[in-house]
Amino acid sequence: MAAPSCPAGQRWILHLDMDAFFASVEVLDNPALAGKPVIVGGGERGVVSAASYPARAFGVRSGMPSAQARKLCPHGIFLHGSHSRYGEVSRLAMAALAQFSPIMEQASVDEAYLDMTGMEPFLGPPEAMGRAVKDAVRRATGGLACSVGLAPVKFLAKIASDWNKPDGLFVLHPTMVDDFLIALPVGKIPGVGGKSEARLRQLGIRTVGDLRRLSPAFFVREFGKWGQALWDRAHGIDPRGLTSHWDAKSEGAEVTLDHDTADRELLARHLYQQCHRVGRRLRKDGRTARTITLKLKDRDFKSITRSRTVELPVASTDGLFEVAKSLLDKEKLSRPLRLIGVSASGFFALPRQLPLFDDAEARREERRQTLDKTLDDIEARFGRGAVQRGRAVGTHDRESIQKSRRENPGGLEKDCSEE
Ligand SMILES: [Mg+2]
Repeated sequence: MAAPSCPAGQRWILHLDMDAFFASVEVLDNPALAGKPVIVGGGERGVVSAASYPARAFGVRSGMPSAQARKLCPHGIFLHGSHSRYGEVSRLAMAALAQFSPIMEQASVDEAYLDMTGMEPFLGPPEAMGRAVKDAVRRATGGLACSVGLAPVKFLAKIASDWNKPDGLFVLHPTMVDDFLIALPVGKIPGVGGKSEARLRQLGIRTVGDLRRLSPAFFVREFGKWGQALWDRAHGIDPRGLTSHWDAKSEGAEVTLDHDTADRELLARHLYQQCHRVGRRLRKDGRTARTITLKLKDRDFKSITRSRTVELPVASTDGLFEVAKSLLDKEKLSRPLRLIGVSASGFFALPRQLPLFDDAEARREERRQTLDKTLDDIEARFGRGAVQRGRAVGTHDRESIQKSRRENPGGLEKDCSEE
């Protein structure tokens, strides 16, 4: 199909997805693995977090239990993977992408959307934009391939990037959208999982063309709120914009104390509360952070910051607190403090459902985050303080906590996120 010329003001969303990302990084770092079935996430009880294309030829897929992958591909090269290395390569790729548009949404460690609207005068038609982005990512990462899709809306861009994988480039021009959608199997619509696909199949619906014959009321009846979005998508409608919360450089929270103090136990409790506030924001966005910074201000308004970067990205309150507390423990505190705060930076995204690291530390962080999220939900419903956290209570007895709550409700809290 000849590419039609684009009307002025055409909205273009680009979606980029790295090809077999973790496995490709392993091959990049060890070229002897090229062309071999490389499987990342091979722990005994773990799941596959990435499989190279030669491994996929044996039916290995990400998300599959590692044990099953071993049966399918017994001579596969199973690797534990290196969190920090993938994060490093991801940051290189994302930095290269950010050069192309100020509006960018990082959707996961190896996926991002860019709003390329209005970029034609600088980069040429969408095909040229896609090639430029692919080249830039390849150069920035030292040779990794990715697949890119461009379309007028977000969900179509995502489908397009998957269309010619690996190393793909597919542009869905507005004039092609209708024909493309009508022939599209419903399972290709992001959000249509195995369950809804099976239900639709029962109803004799296989393609988006079939879907279109049904009324919006049917969709809502069948699928609730998601039904309306599904109907919209069947008609090429996707009003979602890009959320560029990944632009934030740091998330921080601090408290100016009611009374200056050098009492380490009290300071630790305040610090824990601030870690909880920062953690809640990270967890809400599905972010994890590798760099934790402690901020202290003494009664003479002298500020210091101390940072530590950890191997395993954290988002749990306890995970943040452990690092922040170790920094606090190292400080002499020769003068009482008037302010204590914490911030997190060096954000990293991991698909939550794929525990990358099959080690005890990662599993503990995962458990902590799961527990925190439950508490976050309770707080969201019943307000802050609905749950008293173990660590915040410290060694004080109930009476003294209640007393300190009355007398020292926490001082003046401030968010200090940096965009
Ligand atoms: Mg990918």
